[in-house]
Amino acid sequence: MGIRLGCIADDFTGATDLANNLVRAGMRVVQLIDVPPSESEQEMDADAVVIALKSRTAPAADAVEASLRALAWLRSHGAEQVYFKYCSTFDSTPAGNIGPVTEALMDALGTDFTVATPAFPDNGRTVFKGHLFVGDVLLSDSGMRHHPLTPMTDSNLVSVLGAQTTRAVGLVDHTVVADGPEAIRGRINALREDGRGIAVVDAVSNDDLMRLGTAVKGLPLVTAGSGLAIGLPANWGFTPSPAAAQLPPSGGHRAIVSGSVSEATNRQVLQYLRSGRPAFSVDPLRVAAGEDVVEQALAFAESHLDDGPVLVYSTESADTVRTVQGRLGAAEAGELVERTLARVAQGLVERGVRRLVVAGGETSGAVVRVLGITGLRIGPQIDPGVPWCAAALPGGDTLHITLKSGNFGGPDFFTTSFALLDEEAG
Ligand code: ADP
Repeated sequence: MGIRLGCIADDFTGATDLANNLVRAGMRVVQLIDVPPSESEQEMDADAVVIALKSRTAPAADAVEASLRALAWLRSHGAEQVYFKYCSTFDSTPAGNIGPVTEALMDALGTDFTVATPAFPDNGRTVFKGHLFVGDVLLSDSGMRHHPLTPMTDSNLVSVLGAQTTRAVGLVDHTVVADGPEAIRGRINALREDGRGIAVVDAVSNDDLMRLGTAVKGLPLVTAGSGLAIGLPANWGFTPSPAAAQLPPSGGHRAIVSGSVSEATNRQVLQYLRSGRPAFSVDPLRVAAGEDVVEQALAFAESHLDDGPVLVYSTESADTVRTVQGRLGAAEAGELVERTLARVAQGLVERGVRRLVVAGGETSGAVVRVLGITGLRIGPQIDPGVPWCAAALPGGDTLHITLKSGNFGGPDFFTTSFALLDEEAG
């Protein structure tokens, strides 16, 4: 049987967030890194597939092209409904890419109507009378106002989206949403008759998203942040169940590779070091000076892997990172560290690591590439938005891996993550 829900996400961590929500609502989900080549026509043993693109800030034409390729793949694998996933802060500019991608998908699907809501109340994103709130403030008063690539200076999503599309945009407001799925459908029909092609939908609670989820059953395309994912699986009869998060078994050594320099990761590394477990610090200046730090890290790891998880980290405070960047250049330092940690991860897997925690968004990208990982089955959630995943290594073995971007996870993430896997294994 084909997949039910086909999802196109405009960035990697957003894709994981969406996949994680779908799993929690009872679907078995595979996340693909980019669109697989057309010759790889293997069946997907999943209820939903999320294709992670890197299209959020790409030129609009490139974002459209990649999204249409993803759509073609998802349809050829049976997707009955398509979910275009963007950021819950609606990251975009008047040039796109939310509007152009939405329109291209509508055209390709031959549908004249879709909905748009970035609401994700669990993460403090709510939409009220078409205005997006981030926590307690309007989007335009939030830090997103100063975003370097997608500054959001207008909170009114009807006008923000209207500026990006040729289709007329309408609103399904909270009073209608509160009245339930029938009322929402009625309003959608009225907007449709009025010549609107897209409706921004208010949602201030998970109940709103559940009602909207029911209302959009059968709509060929929905567009949203990851929040709406909680309301869709029930349309196919899925209910929350631990079975949806079950991963193929894996044993082997445990390791953590951390190239994130965010505050949350600094706390996690500190907590881990305090616990007295083995850790190796990667100093970018020594790498730049030509020392074989990869070999040193792997030699250290090899002597400790038998006793439990080993941490290899470049994580440092913002001050230290600034000093290193001053010496090497910010982009050069970043690339040097990413390359080094990716080779360490590769060496660890060659030495039998089969349970791997990776901290850092860019670092995760580098590690996934070097390991040749093209898809991830999404497993149980460790902390909000961060699940364990299973990946097939090119040799056929299963690797359990979690990719934690910057500010996610509690202070004891590095230890609780492995404890959760042990629990799952029973
Ligand atoms: P996060 O998700 O926390 O932003 P990323 O991996 O996306 O983490 O980004 C961190 C960036 O900082 C990467 O490019 C990484 O290579 C770089 N970096 C990591 N450690 C250091 C360090 N000690 N000095 C300079 N740059 C570093």
